Amino acid sequence: MLIETPPTFELASPMYREALIQYDSVAEYVDLDDNIRQRLRHPQRSMVVSFPFRRDDYSEVDTVYGYRVQHLHTMGPTKGGIRYAPDVNIGEVAALAMFMTWKCAIIGLPFGGAKGGVRIDPTTLTRPEKQRVTRRYTSEIIDFIGPHRDIPAPDMGTDAQTMAWIMDTYSQQKGYSVPAVVTGKPPELGGSVARREATGRGVMSLLPAAMAHLGLPLRDTRVVIHGFGNVGRFAAIAGVEMGCRVIAVSDVSGGIHDPAGLDIAKATAWVDEHGTLADYPDADHITNDELFALDCEVLVPAAIQGVLTGTNAPDVKAKVILEGANNPTTSEADAVFKENGIFIVPDVLANAGGVTVSYFEWVQDLQNYFWSENEIVARLREIMGRAFDEVLALSIREGFDMRTAALVKGIRRVGAAKAVRGIYP
Ligand code: GLU
Repeated sequence: MLIETPPTFELASPMYREALIQYDSVAEYVDLDDNIRQRLRHPQRSMVVSFPFRRDDYSEVDTVYGYRVQHLHTMGPTKGGIRYAPDVNIGEVAALAMFMTWKCAIIGLPFGGAKGGVRIDPTTLTRPEKQRVTRRYTSEIIDFIGPHRDIPAPDMGTDAQTMAWIMDTYSQQKGYSVPAVVTGKPPELGGSVARREATGRGVMSLLPAAMAHLGLPLRDTRVVIHGFGNVGRFAAIAGVEMGCRVIAVSDVSGGIHDPAGLDIAKATAWVDEHGTLADYPDADHITNDELFALDCEVLVPAAIQGVLTGTNAPDVKAKVILEGANNPTTSEADAVFKENGIFIVPDVLANAGGVTVSYFEWVQDLQNYFWSENEIVARLREIMGRAFDEVLALSIREGFDMRTAALVKGIRRVGAAKAVRGIYP
């Protein structure tokens, strides 16, 4: 029996520790070789960079930290987003890279997991400032990424424009155009249609099967969404399209609520014009904590990690939680939900629509052959639906909750791949 190596001090952040606790507890159920079980606890490659960043006012030059962690190179290049946040750190990025490995393996994509981060508050950046940070960060990590090595994508605080700047910086330095180096680009640059909507759409595409499994009707189902960004907004639109009543959504400014169902097109137009939901006229305004406690059937946390805690979890009345965000549920909240019989579709399955359409984008870029929106949406639904059915079947067959079942499925697949590759040299 091997002695577990603790995470090195560089990675000893609360989030990485949580990721390891989760991995260790699930790995127990997977018939893994001890060496492989131990090996998977460590990210394969990690990079920390710092660089000077000039504000628009030339007198100020800040030093900014950036990270990129590649958890596993066993099954193909690594894949995962880049987030801009004021408190992002190497441990958080390493934890999210590990989750990306399981996510890709659960869906069956030929990637290992990666994640990147720049420690900066994106809301304080002007557009030229954001462009400069992005281009400099890209040049610092340029030898670490590549279409056959590691393919970044959007995450919190970054978007299609950020990806366009990364693609341009990378291509300028290579001397030719390399669209496949990032996904989530604008369609004009080889981005896939329907990538922006993919995570939100993918989340909601699993709702009919979840409701059917619980014997609950889909029509008029009351849905509450925490977050109204790239994931929450498109989940809300998809919810309305499938005949649900989206009764509350929220953003950093707080939430809006209408028990009869919100006009999502109107709320979207309001945010596009005013930046946030604050002062939205046609609904009651509530706090994010009040939002979690609303009477509803479905709750979709679609913003940031750690929002469902031991404190607010007992107030949650939803019967189904679809995790659109990465890591929205702390382990204390997870235990409460289990106790209260809430059916959770975990992040590594529920929000995998984003990386799935990223995979489609990468394939299209490598082949220079682009698919129609209908083809992409149909393939996304098929892949997500199949993964959901397989995880549900595994959970029923082996008596696991959905999170454990999803992780068991992912870790089994990765373990099997590592076993057949063997150890070099
Ligand atoms: N950042 C997204 C995630 O956490 C997408 C990653 C990708 O498309 O590669 O899944």
